[in-house]
Amino acid sequence: TAALPATLEDVLARYWGYTQFRPHQREVMDAILAGRDSLLVMPTGGGKSLCFQAPALLKPGLAVVVSPLISLMKDQVDGLNANGVAAACYNSALDEDQKRDVVRAVREGHTRLLYVAPERLVGDGGERFVRWLAQVGVSFIAVDEAHCISQWGHDFRPEYRRLGQIRTLLPQASIHAFTATATGRVRRDIVAQLGLRDALEEVGSFDRPNLVYRVLLRDQLKRQVLDVLGRHRGEAGILYCPSRKEVDALSAWLVEEGWRAVPYHAGLTSDERARNQDAFLTEQADIVVATVAFGMGIHRSNVRFVVHTGAPQSLEHYQQESGRAGRDGLEAECVLITSGADFLKWRVMLEKNGEFTESAQGLLRDIERYTASTRCRHRHLVQYFGETYDRDDCGACDVCLGELEIVDDAVTIARKVLSCVARVEQRFGAAHVANVLVGKSSEAVTARGHAQLSTFGLFASVPVTEVRGYIEQLTALGYLRQTAGEYPVLVLSPEGRTLMRDGASEPPVVLFRQKRRAKDAGPR
Ligand code: ADP
Ligand code: ZN
Repeated sequence: TAALPATLEDVLARYWGYTQFRPHQREVMDAILAGRDSLLVMPTGGGKSLCFQAPALLKPGLAVVVSPLISLMKDQVDGLNANGVAAACYNSALDEDQKRDVVRAVREGHTRLLYVAPERLVGDGGERFVRWLAQVGVSFIAVDEAHCISQWGHDFRPEYRRLGQIRTLLPQASIHAFTATATGRVRRDIVAQLGLRDALEEVGSFDRPNLVYRVLLRDQLKRQVLDVLGRHRGEAGILYCPSRKEVDALSAWLVEEGWRAVPYHAGLTSDERARNQDAFLTEQADIVVATVAFGMGIHRSNVRFVVHTGAPQSLEHYQQESGRAGRDGLEAECVLITSGADFLKWRVMLEKNGEFTESAQGLLRDIERYTASTRCRHRHLVQYFGETYDRDDCGACDVCLGELEIVDDAVTIARKVLSCVARVEQRFGAAHVANVLVGKSSEAVTARGHAQLSTFGLFASVPVTEVRGYIEQLTALGYLRQTAGEYPVLVLSPEGRTLMRDGASEPPVVLFRQKRRAKDAGPR
Protein backbone atom coordinates (compact mmCIF):
# COMPACT_ATOMS: atom_id res chain seq x y z
CA THR A 1 0.00 0.00 0.00
CA ALA A 2 1.07 3.58 -0.61
CA ALA A 3 2.79 5.48 2.18
CA LEU A 4 0.43 7.26 4.54
CA PRO A 5 0.76 11.04 4.85
CA ALA A 6 2.59 12.23 7.92
CA THR A 7 0.29 14.77 9.57
CA LEU A 8 -3.32 15.87 9.66
CA GLU A 9 -2.28 19.17 8.09
CA ASP A 10 -0.79 17.22 5.18
CA VAL A 11 -3.99 15.26 4.76
CA LEU A 12 -6.19 18.35 4.80
CA ALA A 13 -4.00 20.15 2.30
CA ARG A 14 -3.38 17.20 0.00
CA TYR A 15 -6.91 15.80 -0.30
CA TRP A 16 -9.13 18.77 0.46
CA GLY A 17 -7.01 21.81 -0.13
CA TYR A 18 -7.87 23.12 3.36
CA THR A 19 -5.34 25.03 5.39
CA GLN A 20 -7.17 25.27 8.69
CA PHE A 21 -9.25 23.30 11.12
CA ARG A 22 -12.73 24.37 12.05
CA PRO A 23 -13.57 24.52 15.78
CA HIS A 24 -13.52 21.07 17.45
CA GLN A 25 -12.11 19.27 14.41
CA ARG A 26 -8.57 19.09 15.65
CA GLU A 27 -9.59 17.79 19.08
CA VAL A 28 -11.75 15.02 17.66
CA MET A 29 -9.18 14.02 15.04
CA ASP A 30 -6.51 13.79 17.73
CA ALA A 31 -8.80 11.59 19.83
CA ILE A 32 -9.29 9.28 16.87
CA LEU A 33 -5.57 9.07 16.23
CA ALA A 34 -5.02 8.32 19.92
CA GLY A 35 -7.70 5.65 19.91
CA ARG A 36 -9.82 7.44 22.52
CA ASP A 37 -13.60 7.20 22.14
CA SER A 38 -15.33 10.48 21.36
CA LEU A 39 -18.64 12.20 20.79
CA LEU A 40 -18.90 15.27 18.62
CA VAL A 41 -22.05 17.35 18.53
CA MET A 42 -22.06 20.06 15.90
CA PRO A 43 -24.80 21.61 13.79
CA THR A 44 -25.20 20.45 10.22
CA GLY A 45 -22.55 22.04 8.07
CA GLY A 46 -20.14 22.38 10.97
CA GLY A 47 -17.72 19.94 9.38
CA LYS A 48 -18.27 16.69 11.23
CA SER A 49 -17.48 14.36 8.34
CA LEU A 50 -13.95 15.64 7.93
CA CYS A 51 -13.28 14.67 11.55
CA PHE A 52 -13.40 10.98 10.73
CA GLN A 53 -12.39 11.18 7.08
CA ALA A 54 -9.02 12.84 7.61
CA PRO A 55 -7.72 10.54 10.39
CA ALA A 56 -8.77 7.53 8.30
CA LEU A 57 -6.03 8.51 5.87
CA LEU A 58 -3.44 8.72 8.58
CA LYS A 59 -4.19 5.73 10.74
CA PRO A 60 -3.25 2.20 9.68
CA GLY A 61 -6.24 -0.10 9.31
CA LEU A 62 -9.73 0.34 7.96
CA ALA A 63 -12.14 3.04 9.15
CA VAL A 64 -15.73 1.81 9.25
CA VAL A 65 -18.40 4.50 8.94
CA VAL A 66 -21.92 3.67 10.05
CA SER A 67 -24.44 5.76 8.16
CA PRO A 68 -28.22 5.48 8.16
CA LEU A 69 -29.03 6.28 4.54
CA ILE A 70 -27.75 4.89 1.27
CA SER A 71 -28.06 8.32 -0.32
CA LEU A 72 -25.89 9.86 2.41
CA MET A 73 -23.26 7.17 2.01
CA LYS A 74 -23.19 7.65 -1.73
CA ASP A 75 -22.85 11.43 -1.43
CA GLN A 76 -19.88 11.12 0.88
CA VAL A 77 -18.17 8.30 -0.99
CA ASP A 78 -18.54 10.12 -4.32
CA GLY A 79 -17.09 13.25 -2.74
CA LEU A 80 -14.16 11.35 -1.27
CA ASN A 81 -13.42 9.50 -4.50
CA ALA A 82 -13.46 12.80 -6.37
CA ASN A 83 -10.78 14.02 -3.94
CA GLY A 84 -8.69 10.93 -4.57
CA VAL A 85 -9.58 9.15 -1.33
CA ALA A 86 -10.13 5.39 -1.50
CA ALA A 87 -13.58 5.07 0.07
CA ALA A 88 -16.38 2.66 -0.70
CA CYS A 89 -19.77 1.68 0.54
CA TYR A 90 -21.07 -1.80 1.04
CA ASN A 91 -24.85 -1.88 0.93
CA SER A 92 -27.92 -3.43 -0.61
CA ALA A 93 -27.77 -1.08 -3.59
CA LEU A 94 -24.70 -2.91 -4.94
CA ASP A 95 -24.94 -5.93 -7.24
CA GLU A 96 -22.88 -9.06 -6.61
CA ASP A 97 -20.00 -7.97 -8.85
CA GLN A 98 -19.72 -4.60 -7.16
CA LYS A 99 -19.81 -6.24 -3.75
CA ARG A 100 -16.99 -8.57 -4.74
CA ASP A 101 -14.90 -5.61 -5.92
CA VAL A 102 -15.46 -3.77 -2.66
CA VAL A 103 -14.52 -6.83 -0.62
CA ARG A 104 -11.34 -7.36 -2.63
CA ALA A 105 -10.23 -3.73 -2.30
CA VAL A 106 -10.82 -3.85 1.45
CA ARG A 107 -8.97 -7.14 1.84
CA GLU A 108 -6.02 -5.86 -0.13
CA GLY A 109 -5.85 -2.85 2.15
CA HIS A 110 -6.56 -0.23 -0.53
CA THR A 111 -9.75 1.04 1.00
CA ARG A 112 -9.35 3.61 3.77
CA LEU A 113 -13.04 4.17 4.62
CA LEU A 114 -15.87 1.68 4.34
CA TYR A 115 -19.42 2.99 4.69
CA VAL A 116 -22.07 0.57 5.92
CA ALA A 117 -25.62 0.67 7.25
CA PRO A 118 -26.05 -0.35 10.90
CA GLU A 119 -27.93 -3.53 9.99
CA ARG A 120 -24.89 -4.68 8.05
CA LEU A 121 -23.04 -4.96 11.36
CA VAL A 122 -25.75 -6.09 13.73
CA GLY A 123 -28.52 -7.57 11.56
CA ASP A 124 -28.75 -11.04 9.99
CA GLY A 125 -25.30 -12.17 9.01
CA GLY A 126 -23.87 -9.17 10.82
CA GLU A 127 -21.64 -11.22 13.01
CA ARG A 128 -20.00 -12.92 10.05
CA PHE A 129 -19.42 -9.56 8.41
CA VAL A 130 -17.89 -8.11 11.56
CA ARG A 131 -15.65 -11.13 12.02
CA TRP A 132 -14.39 -10.55 8.53
CA LEU A 133 -13.78 -6.87 9.35
CA ALA A 134 -11.88 -7.91 12.45
CA GLN A 135 -9.66 -10.08 10.29
CA VAL A 136 -8.99 -7.24 7.89
CA GLY A 137 -8.16 -4.94 10.78
CA VAL A 138 -10.42 -2.06 11.79
CA SER A 139 -8.76 1.02 13.23
CA PHE A 140 -11.90 2.83 14.36
CA ILE A 141 -15.64 3.03 13.91
CA ALA A 142 -17.39 6.31 13.16
CA VAL A 143 -21.11 6.34 13.92
CA ASP A 144 -22.67 9.14 11.89
CA GLU A 145 -26.10 10.54 12.79
CA ALA A 146 -25.59 8.90 16.16
CA HIS A 147 -28.79 10.41 17.61
CA CYS A 148 -30.65 7.65 15.73
CA ILE A 149 -29.64 5.43 18.62
CA SER A 150 -31.74 7.37 21.11
CA GLN A 151 -35.46 7.19 21.46
CA TRP A 152 -35.26 10.76 22.77
CA GLY A 153 -33.88 11.88 19.44
CA HIS A 154 -36.01 12.88 16.50
CA ASP A 155 -35.05 10.00 14.28
CA PHE A 156 -34.92 6.85 16.37
CA ARG A 157 -33.92 3.71 14.46
CA PRO A 158 -34.14 0.38 16.23
CA GLU A 159 -31.21 -1.09 14.31
CA TYR A 160 -28.97 1.67 15.73
CA ARG A 161 -29.91 0.47 19.18
CA ARG A 162 -28.05 -2.76 18.63
CA LEU A 163 -24.80 -1.07 17.66
CA GLY A 164 -23.67 -1.45 21.28
CA GLN A 165 -22.73 -5.00 20.32
CA ILE A 166 -19.90 -3.95 18.04
CA ARG A 167 -17.82 -2.98 21.03
CA THR A 168 -17.53 -6.63 22.04
CA LEU A 169 -17.08 -7.81 18.46
CA LEU A 170 -14.34 -5.30 17.65
CA PRO A 171 -12.72 -4.63 21.02
CA GLN A 172 -9.58 -3.11 19.55
CA ALA A 173 -11.36 -0.37 17.59
CA SER A 174 -12.24 2.96 19.17
CA ILE A 175 -15.76 4.28 18.62
CA HIS A 176 -16.59 7.84 17.61
CA ALA A 177 -20.09 9.24 17.50
CA PHE A 178 -21.26 12.23 15.46
CA THR A 179 -24.56 14.04 15.55
CA ALA A 180 -26.23 17.40 15.12
CA THR A 181 -28.67 16.72 17.94
CA ALA A 182 -27.39 18.10 21.16
CA THR A 183 -30.00 17.85 23.87
CA GLY A 184 -28.35 16.48 26.98
CA ARG A 185 -30.63 13.51 27.21
CA VAL A 186 -29.73 12.34 23.72
CA ARG A 187 -26.05 12.90 24.38
CA ARG A 188 -26.08 10.77 27.53
CA ASP A 189 -28.07 8.10 25.76
CA ILE A 190 -25.54 7.89 22.91
CA VAL A 191 -22.67 7.46 25.35
CA ALA A 192 -24.52 4.76 27.28
CA GLN A 193 -25.88 2.86 24.30
CA LEU A 194 -22.60 2.74 22.42
CA GLY A 195 -20.71 1.92 25.59
CA LEU A 196 -18.26 4.79 25.03
CA ARG A 197 -15.44 4.77 27.56
CA ASP A 198 -13.83 7.91 28.93
CA ALA A 199 -15.05 9.59 25.79
CA LEU A 200 -13.93 13.02 24.69
CA GLU A 201 -17.09 15.10 24.34
CA GLU A 202 -17.01 18.11 22.08
CA VAL A 203 -20.07 20.26 21.59
CA GLY A 204 -20.09 22.96 18.96
CA SER A 205 -22.13 26.11 19.09
CA PHE A 206 -25.62 26.11 17.69
CA ASP A 207 -25.80 29.87 17.65
CA ARG A 208 -26.20 31.22 14.13
CA PRO A 209 -26.05 34.97 14.69
CA ASN A 210 -26.30 35.75 10.99
CA LEU A 211 -29.74 34.15 10.70
CA VAL A 212 -32.83 36.27 11.31
CA TYR A 213 -35.65 34.12 12.70
CA ARG A 214 -39.31 34.93 12.31
CA VAL A 215 -42.48 33.03 13.14
CA LEU A 216 -45.72 33.97 11.38
CA LEU A 217 -49.17 32.65 12.07
CA ARG A 218 -50.38 31.26 8.80
CA ASP A 219 -53.26 33.26 7.52
CA GLN A 220 -52.88 34.17 3.87
CA LEU A 221 -50.05 31.87 2.94
CA LYS A 222 -49.37 33.18 -0.56
CA ARG A 223 -49.25 36.79 0.58
CA GLN A 224 -46.97 35.83 3.44
CA VAL A 225 -44.65 33.94 1.09
CA LEU A 226 -44.55 36.82 -1.38
CA ASP A 227 -43.65 39.19 1.45
CA VAL A 228 -40.52 37.20 2.16
CA LEU A 229 -39.65 36.67 -1.50
CA GLY A 230 -40.06 40.37 -2.13
CA ARG A 231 -37.20 41.05 0.28
CA HIS A 232 -34.95 38.68 -1.68
CA ARG A 233 -35.42 39.29 -5.38
CA GLY A 234 -32.84 37.43 -7.44
CA GLU A 235 -31.45 35.71 -4.34
CA ALA A 236 -31.38 32.01 -3.51
CA GLY A 237 -33.91 30.46 -1.17
CA ILE A 238 -35.62 27.28 -0.12
CA LEU A 239 -39.34 26.93 0.51
CA TYR A 240 -40.11 23.85 2.58
CA CYS A 241 -43.65 22.47 2.32
CA PRO A 242 -45.16 19.64 4.35
CA SER A 243 -46.41 17.62 1.36
CA ARG A 244 -45.58 16.86 -2.27
CA LYS A 245 -48.95 18.21 -3.32
CA GLU A 246 -48.20 21.56 -1.74
CA VAL A 247 -44.74 21.59 -3.32
CA ASP A 248 -46.26 21.08 -6.77
CA ALA A 249 -48.97 23.68 -6.26
CA LEU A 250 -46.72 26.33 -4.77
CA SER A 251 -43.90 25.94 -7.27
CA ALA A 252 -46.32 26.04 -10.23
CA TRP A 253 -47.86 29.18 -8.82
CA LEU A 254 -44.49 30.86 -8.28
CA VAL A 255 -43.41 30.09 -11.83
CA GLU A 256 -46.66 31.61 -13.06
CA GLU A 257 -45.89 34.69 -10.99
CA GLY A 258 -42.55 34.98 -12.76
CA TRP A 259 -40.19 33.54 -10.13
CA ARG A 260 -37.36 31.20 -11.10
CA ALA A 261 -38.59 28.31 -8.97
CA VAL A 262 -38.26 24.53 -9.28
CA PRO A 263 -39.96 21.74 -7.31
CA TYR A 264 -38.15 18.98 -5.47
CA HIS A 265 -39.61 15.94 -3.75
CA ALA A 266 -39.33 12.16 -3.67
CA GLY A 267 -42.29 11.77 -6.04
CA LEU A 268 -40.35 13.20 -8.99
CA THR A 269 -38.26 10.93 -11.20
CA SER A 270 -34.59 10.84 -10.30
CA ASP A 271 -33.90 12.67 -13.57
CA GLU A 272 -36.21 15.50 -12.64
CA ARG A 273 -34.76 15.68 -9.17
CA ALA A 274 -31.21 15.77 -10.45
CA ARG A 275 -32.13 18.42 -13.03
CA ASN A 276 -33.87 20.65 -10.50
CA GLN A 277 -31.16 20.30 -7.89
CA ASP A 278 -28.62 21.13 -10.56
CA ALA A 279 -30.57 24.17 -11.67
CA PHE A 280 -30.47 25.44 -8.11
CA LEU A 281 -26.79 24.68 -7.52
CA THR A 282 -25.74 26.30 -10.80
CA GLU A 283 -27.92 29.35 -10.13
CA GLN A 284 -30.27 28.67 -13.06
CA ALA A 285 -33.04 28.68 -10.47
CA ASP A 286 -33.36 30.95 -7.43
CA ILE A 287 -35.92 29.08 -5.42
CA VAL A 288 -36.38 25.41 -4.63
CA VAL A 289 -39.83 24.49 -3.41
CA ALA A 290 -39.27 21.22 -1.62
CA THR A 291 -40.21 18.64 0.92
CA VAL A 292 -37.58 17.73 3.51
CA ALA A 293 -36.26 15.23 0.95
CA PHE A 294 -34.23 18.19 -0.31
CA GLY A 295 -31.14 19.25 1.46
CA MET A 296 -29.06 16.30 2.57
CA GLY A 297 -26.22 17.03 0.22
CA ILE A 298 -26.84 20.66 -0.56
CA HIS A 299 -23.79 22.81 -0.80
CA ARG A 300 -25.02 26.17 -1.94
CA SER A 301 -23.65 28.52 0.62
CA ASN A 302 -25.45 31.71 -0.45
CA VAL A 303 -28.98 30.64 0.42
CA ARG A 304 -30.52 33.90 1.66
CA PHE A 305 -33.84 32.62 2.96
CA VAL A 306 -35.51 29.42 4.12
CA VAL A 307 -39.27 29.53 4.49
CA HIS A 308 -41.32 26.75 6.07
CA THR A 309 -44.97 26.82 5.08
CA GLY A 310 -45.73 24.42 7.95
CA ALA A 311 -43.98 23.40 11.14
CA PRO A 312 -41.56 20.45 11.13
CA GLN A 313 -41.99 17.80 13.82
CA SER A 314 -39.18 18.96 16.09
CA LEU A 315 -36.85 21.86 16.75
CA GLU A 316 -34.00 19.57 15.69
CA HIS A 317 -35.58 19.30 12.26
CA TYR A 318 -36.20 23.03 12.18
CA GLN A 319 -32.63 23.81 13.19
CA GLN A 320 -31.26 21.57 10.46
CA GLU A 321 -33.56 22.74 7.70
CA SER A 322 -33.43 26.45 8.50
CA GLY A 323 -29.69 26.08 9.03
CA ARG A 324 -29.22 25.64 5.28
CA ALA A 325 -29.55 29.42 5.04
CA GLY A 326 -26.54 31.67 5.34
CA ARG A 327 -23.79 29.07 5.28
CA ASP A 328 -21.52 31.82 3.95
CA GLY A 329 -21.91 33.70 7.22
CA LEU A 330 -23.80 36.59 5.64
CA GLU A 331 -27.23 37.64 6.81
CA ALA A 332 -30.07 35.31 5.86
CA GLU A 333 -33.68 34.96 6.91
CA CYS A 334 -35.57 31.96 8.30
CA VAL A 335 -39.33 32.22 8.41
CA LEU A 336 -41.59 29.63 9.96
CA ILE A 337 -45.20 30.04 8.84
CA THR A 338 -47.32 27.88 11.06
CA SER A 339 -50.64 27.31 12.75
CA GLY A 340 -52.00 24.90 15.33
CA ALA A 341 -53.24 22.69 12.51
CA ASP A 342 -49.63 21.67 11.79
CA PHE A 343 -49.20 20.04 15.16
CA LEU A 344 -52.51 18.27 14.93
CA LYS A 345 -51.52 16.94 11.53
CA TRP A 346 -48.26 15.57 12.90
CA ARG A 347 -50.08 13.97 15.75
CA VAL A 348 -52.57 12.24 13.48
CA MET A 349 -49.79 11.07 11.19
CA LEU A 350 -47.58 9.77 13.98
CA GLU A 351 -50.55 7.99 15.55
CA LYS A 352 -51.36 6.34 12.26
CA ASN A 353 -47.79 5.06 11.97
CA GLY A 354 -47.70 3.92 15.58
CA GLU A 355 -44.94 6.47 16.24
CA PHE A 356 -46.76 8.75 18.65
CA THR A 357 -44.41 7.93 21.49
CA GLU A 358 -43.85 9.97 24.61
CA SER A 359 -40.67 11.39 23.13
CA ALA A 360 -42.31 12.26 19.80
CA GLN A 361 -45.01 14.11 21.73
CA GLY A 362 -42.40 15.93 23.76
CA LEU A 363 -40.56 17.05 20.63
CA LEU A 364 -43.79 18.30 19.08
CA ARG A 365 -44.67 20.22 22.24
CA ASP A 366 -41.22 21.80 22.23
CA ILE A 367 -41.54 23.19 18.73
CA GLU A 368 -45.12 24.26 19.34
CA ARG A 369 -43.89 26.19 22.36
CA TYR A 370 -41.25 27.84 20.21
CA THR A 371 -43.92 29.11 17.82
CA ALA A 372 -45.97 30.57 20.67
CA SER A 373 -43.03 31.93 22.59
CA THR A 374 -42.31 35.60 23.18
CA ARG A 375 -38.70 34.93 24.07
CA CYS A 376 -35.87 35.82 21.73
CA ARG A 377 -35.75 33.07 19.07
CA HIS A 378 -31.96 32.84 19.17
CA ARG A 379 -32.03 32.46 22.93
CA HIS A 380 -34.80 29.89 22.71
CA LEU A 381 -33.00 27.74 20.13
CA VAL A 382 -29.56 27.99 21.68
CA GLN A 383 -30.87 27.08 25.14
CA TYR A 384 -32.91 24.25 23.70
CA PHE A 385 -29.71 22.76 22.36
CA GLY A 386 -28.14 22.95 25.78
CA GLU A 387 -26.01 26.08 25.54
CA THR A 388 -26.20 29.27 27.51
CA TYR A 389 -27.01 32.48 25.73
CA ASP A 390 -25.74 35.75 27.07
CA ARG A 391 -26.86 38.42 24.65
CA ASP A 392 -29.93 40.40 25.73
CA ASP A 393 -31.10 41.59 22.37
CA CYS A 394 -30.08 39.48 19.40
CA GLY A 395 -31.24 42.13 16.95
CA ALA A 396 -32.07 39.30 14.59
CA CYS A 397 -35.46 37.85 15.43
CA ASP A 398 -39.04 39.00 15.24
CA VAL A 399 -39.21 39.31 19.02
CA CYS A 400 -36.10 41.45 19.43
CA LEU A 401 -36.86 43.46 16.31
CA GLY A 402 -40.17 44.43 17.90
CA GLU A 403 -42.33 42.85 15.23
CA LEU A 404 -44.50 41.21 17.84
CA GLU A 405 -46.64 43.18 20.14
CA ILE A 406 -47.04 41.78 23.64
CA VAL A 407 -50.64 42.47 24.60
CA ASP A 408 -51.28 44.25 27.90
CA ASP A 409 -54.37 42.42 29.02
CA ALA A 410 -53.31 38.83 28.34
CA VAL A 411 -55.19 37.40 31.31
CA THR A 412 -58.45 39.04 30.28
CA ILE A 413 -58.07 37.88 26.72
CA ALA A 414 -57.19 34.38 27.84
CA ARG A 415 -60.19 34.16 30.16
CA LYS A 416 -62.54 35.32 27.43
CA VAL A 417 -61.23 32.70 25.03
CA LEU A 418 -61.33 29.94 27.64
CA SER A 419 -64.87 30.89 28.68
CA CYS A 420 -65.99 30.69 25.11
CA VAL A 421 -64.54 27.20 24.80
CA ALA A 422 -66.46 26.26 27.95
CA ARG A 423 -69.65 27.90 26.67
CA VAL A 424 -69.64 25.86 23.46
CA GLU A 425 -69.29 22.86 25.76
CA GLN A 426 -65.83 21.92 24.51
CA ARG A 427 -67.37 20.46 21.40
CA PHE A 428 -66.10 22.79 18.67
CA GLY A 429 -62.87 23.55 16.88
CA ALA A 430 -60.74 26.68 16.81
CA ALA A 431 -62.38 28.22 13.73
CA HIS A 432 -65.83 28.00 15.29
CA VAL A 433 -64.71 29.38 18.64
CA ALA A 434 -62.99 32.29 16.89
CA ASN A 435 -66.14 33.03 14.90
CA VAL A 436 -68.22 33.15 18.07
CA LEU A 437 -65.70 35.44 19.77
CA VAL A 438 -65.60 37.96 16.93
CA GLY A 439 -69.39 37.75 16.61
CA LYS A 440 -69.55 36.31 13.14
CA SER A 441 -73.01 34.90 12.46
CA SER A 442 -71.86 32.01 10.32
CA GLU A 443 -74.35 29.31 9.50
CA ALA A 444 -72.78 26.93 12.03
CA VAL A 445 -72.83 29.63 14.71
CA THR A 446 -76.49 30.53 14.30
CA ALA A 447 -77.62 26.94 13.77
CA ARG A 448 -76.18 26.02 17.17
CA GLY A 449 -77.67 29.04 18.86
CA HIS A 450 -74.19 30.30 19.61
CA ALA A 451 -75.08 33.85 18.63
CA GLN A 452 -77.00 33.96 21.90
CA LEU A 453 -73.99 33.08 24.05
CA SER A 454 -72.60 35.73 26.39
CA THR A 455 -69.21 35.25 24.75
CA PHE A 456 -70.58 36.02 21.27
CA GLY A 457 -68.90 39.13 19.90
CA LEU A 458 -66.59 39.69 22.88
CA PHE A 459 -63.87 40.49 20.35
CA ALA A 460 -66.08 42.28 17.86
CA SER A 461 -63.39 44.75 16.83
CA VAL A 462 -60.53 42.26 16.59
CA PRO A 463 -59.51 40.59 13.29
CA VAL A 464 -60.45 36.93 13.33
CA THR A 465 -56.84 35.86 12.53
CA GLU A 466 -55.67 37.61 15.67
CA VAL A 467 -58.21 35.67 17.73
CA ARG A 468 -57.07 32.46 16.05
CA GLY A 469 -53.56 33.44 17.08
CA TYR A 470 -54.61 33.73 20.74
CA ILE A 471 -56.30 30.34 20.59
CA GLU A 472 -53.14 28.80 19.16
CA GLN A 473 -50.91 30.41 21.73
CA LEU A 474 -53.16 29.24 24.55
CA THR A 475 -52.99 25.75 23.07
CA ALA A 476 -49.22 25.87 22.79
CA LEU A 477 -49.01 27.18 26.35
CA GLY A 478 -51.04 24.21 27.55
CA TYR A 479 -54.26 25.98 28.63
CA LEU A 480 -56.20 24.45 25.77
CA ARG A 481 -55.88 21.12 24.08
CA GLN A 482 -57.03 20.05 20.64
CA THR A 483 -58.45 16.56 20.42
CA ALA A 484 -57.25 14.41 17.54
CA GLY A 485 -59.64 12.89 15.05
CA GLU A 486 -61.53 13.95 12.01
CA TYR A 487 -63.17 16.94 13.71
CA PRO A 488 -60.72 18.23 16.31
CA VAL A 489 -62.35 20.19 19.11
CA LEU A 490 -60.90 22.48 21.75
CA VAL A 491 -61.02 21.39 25.36
CA LEU A 492 -59.77 23.03 28.57
CA SER A 493 -56.79 21.61 30.40
CA PRO A 494 -56.73 21.69 34.22
CA GLU A 495 -54.45 24.76 34.00
CA GLY A 496 -56.90 26.35 31.58
CA ARG A 497 -59.75 25.75 34.00
CA THR A 498 -57.80 27.37 36.83
CA LEU A 499 -56.88 30.37 34.72
CA MET A 500 -60.48 30.81 33.61
CA ARG A 501 -61.79 30.56 37.15
CA ASP A 502 -59.16 32.42 39.18
CA GLY A 503 -57.52 34.65 36.59
CA ALA A 504 -54.17 33.41 37.84
CA SER A 505 -51.53 31.13 36.45
CA GLU A 506 -47.93 30.30 37.09
CA PRO A 507 -45.93 31.32 35.08
CA PRO A 508 -48.07 34.32 34.15
CA VAL A 509 -49.68 34.07 30.75
CA VAL A 510 -48.08 36.15 28.01
CA LEU A 511 -49.80 36.63 24.66
CA PHE A 512 -48.73 38.49 21.57
CA ARG A 513 -50.09 39.60 18.28
CA GLN A 514 -48.33 40.37 15.08
CA LYS A 515 -48.17 44.12 14.63
CA ARG A 516 -50.85 45.10 12.19
CA ARG A 517 -49.32 46.20 8.94
CA ALA A 518 -49.93 49.73 7.78
CA LYS A 519 -51.70 48.35 4.71
CA ASP A 520 -54.09 46.31 6.86
CA ALA A 521 -54.92 49.17 9.12
CA GLY A 522 -57.52 50.39 6.65
CA PRO A 523 -58.15 53.94 5.35
CA ARG A 524 -56.91 56.69 7.61
P1 ADP B 1 -21.55 18.17 8.73
O1 ADP B 1 -21.19 16.73 8.49
O2 ADP B 1 -21.21 18.66 10.10
O3 ADP B 1 -22.95 18.53 8.34
P2 ADP B 1 -19.79 18.62 6.54
O4 ADP B 1 -18.76 17.65 6.96
O5 ADP B 1 -20.73 18.23 5.44
O6 ADP B 1 -20.63 19.08 7.81
O7 ADP B 1 -19.04 19.97 6.20
C1 ADP B 1 -19.71 21.08 5.69
C2 ADP B 1 -18.84 21.80 4.68
O8 ADP B 1 -17.72 22.40 5.32
C3 ADP B 1 -18.29 20.87 3.63
O9 ADP B 1 -18.39 21.52 2.38
C4 ADP B 1 -16.86 20.67 4.07
O10 ADP B 1 -16.02 20.34 2.99
C5 ADP B 1 -16.51 22.02 4.65
N1 ADP B 1 -15.40 21.95 5.63
C6 ADP B 1 -15.30 21.07 6.66
N2 ADP B 1 -14.16 21.29 7.34
C7 ADP B 1 -13.51 22.31 6.75
C8 ADP B 1 -12.26 22.99 6.97
N3 ADP B 1 -11.46 22.66 8.00
N4 ADP B 1 -11.95 24.00 6.15
C9 ADP B 1 -12.75 24.35 5.13
N5 ADP B 1 -13.93 23.75 4.85
C10 ADP B 1 -14.32 22.74 5.64
ZN1 ZN C 1 -33.85 37.83 19.48
